[in-house]
Amino acid sequence: MAIEDDVVVIGGGLAGMTTALSAAREGSRVRLLSHKESTLRFASGLIDVLGYVEGEIVSNPFETISALPDEHPYQKVGEDGVRAGLALFDSVADYAGDHTDRNALVPTFGGRIKPTARYPKHTAPGLASDERDTLLVGFETVVDFDAPVAAEHLRETVPFDVRGVTLSFPGEFRTDAKITRLAHALDKNERVEIGSSENVSQSEPVRIALAEKIKPHLGDAERIGFPAMLGEDHPEDVRATLERKLDVEVFEIPMGPPSLPGMRLEAQFESALKEAGVRITTGNPVVDFESGDNGEISAVVVERNGAAIPFHGEQFVLATGGLVGKGIDSDREGVREPIFDCRVPAPEDRYEWSEDGAFDNHAFARFGVQVDDELRPLDSAGEPEFENLRAVGGVLGNCDVSAEKSASGVSLSTGTVAGRKASDEVNP
Ligand SMILES: Cc1cc2nc3c(=O)[nH]c(=O)nc-3n(C[C@H](O)[C@H](O)[C@H](O)COP(=O)(O)OP(=O)(O)OC[C@H]3O[C@@H](n4cnc5c(N)ncnc54)[C@H](O)[C@@H]3O)c2cc1C
Repeated sequence: MAIEDDVVVIGGGLAGMTTALSAAREGSRVRLLSHKESTLRFASGLIDVLGYVEGEIVSNPFETISALPDEHPYQKVGEDGVRAGLALFDSVADYAGDHTDRNALVPTFGGRIKPTARYPKHTAPGLASDERDTLLVGFETVVDFDAPVAAEHLRETVPFDVRGVTLSFPGEFRTDAKITRLAHALDKNERVEIGSSENVSQSEPVRIALAEKIKPHLGDAERIGFPAMLGEDHPEDVRATLERKLDVEVFEIPMGPPSLPGMRLEAQFESALKEAGVRITTGNPVVDFESGDNGEISAVVVERNGAAIPFHGEQFVLATGGLVGKGIDSDREGVREPIFDCRVPAPEDRYEWSEDGAFDNHAFARFGVQVDDELRPLDSAGEPEFENLRAVGGVLGNCDVSAEKSASGVSLSTGTVAGRKASDEVNP
């Protein structure tokens, strides 16, 4: 029997999950097809909406959206679409930042300051707009976060004192122990050896042992920043114990992959999708599509162990990400969108794809499908490629989300609007 849904979403990153949730909440029967699991676990967990325009820091994204080029995805969904994307996010995630339109300034693990719209509650006490003196604590085995170096960088930009110290994590963990292993030890408050007395080894719960290690370094610090590893399942408890023992506020600094804040966010989205009744199929790629008599898409084809499995639907949304995630592919022939072969404009001369400097304005950073105001991909004549296909998130062109710091905002806003529009077509 053919599998039939109202809305089929292809891609399980932030854009695809948002689209699926938006369409399901509008009453559609939704299928989410994703090759790999959500990419949130690799992301910092920060929700950037618009941090920079032409290299200048943005304090209020909503005052700046209208100044973006007409082709930018934010112009397609409008300010209302960006607000709707954030509202959907706020209904899913236990985050801070929804009290204001202004960007928060969050310290990064490299010791820079990042303008962002939403941030985990555990990150909130560390904001740079709060001028309390700060101690950063790193660990010898967590090499991505060098606390003294991060503190040195931060001191160049903030008006308060920041110091950094690197400690050994209490207990006998392998030197290559992953950040998740240490987080689980803190979750469970495992007992760890802290030395021996009269040849009898002594142990203590790891949260207490950690607080004891930090005490001699505390000085006048009024808050302590850790790499984001203070528990995966019970971060509130871990923070509360440390705050009680050290008598200062504790915050987390977002890290690269594997990202605990990203994993916590992924879990929150997964439970929202489940609650909304979205059916999720992961592990195999969508490789092709079938079209009906009217030229619309009637099904997408998933390749599973050499077999082609069609998933039928009325409306389809492409959320396969950009060049990094292979939602957009490039080869000697040019740049292409591999499933529907939607047009991806790019200069014929490959030398024009990039500039010399790493931080220059590279054309490839804006590669992606072009869409109309309905978010439908357009062909070379400016007509929709298919009446029942929309595109969202990283697969969209005309924005450099990395330079703008707008990746999550583009995914949330276009996903929310496309999910709603697709659902409106099915249930007018
Ligand atoms: C390391 C990292 C750090 C980040 N940090 C931040 C940050 O600090 N702030 C911020 O705002 N954003 C950040 N982001 C970006 C953000 O998490 C999203 O990646 C971005 O919003 C784009 O989302 P997306 O869903 O469009 O694409 P992706 O996240 O790339 O997801 C695409 C999905 O499509 C699936 N897919 C691709 N091809 C197929 C196919 N043929 N068939 C089926 N499924 C397919 C993939 O498996 C994947 O699940 C970061 C991302 C990464 C990877």
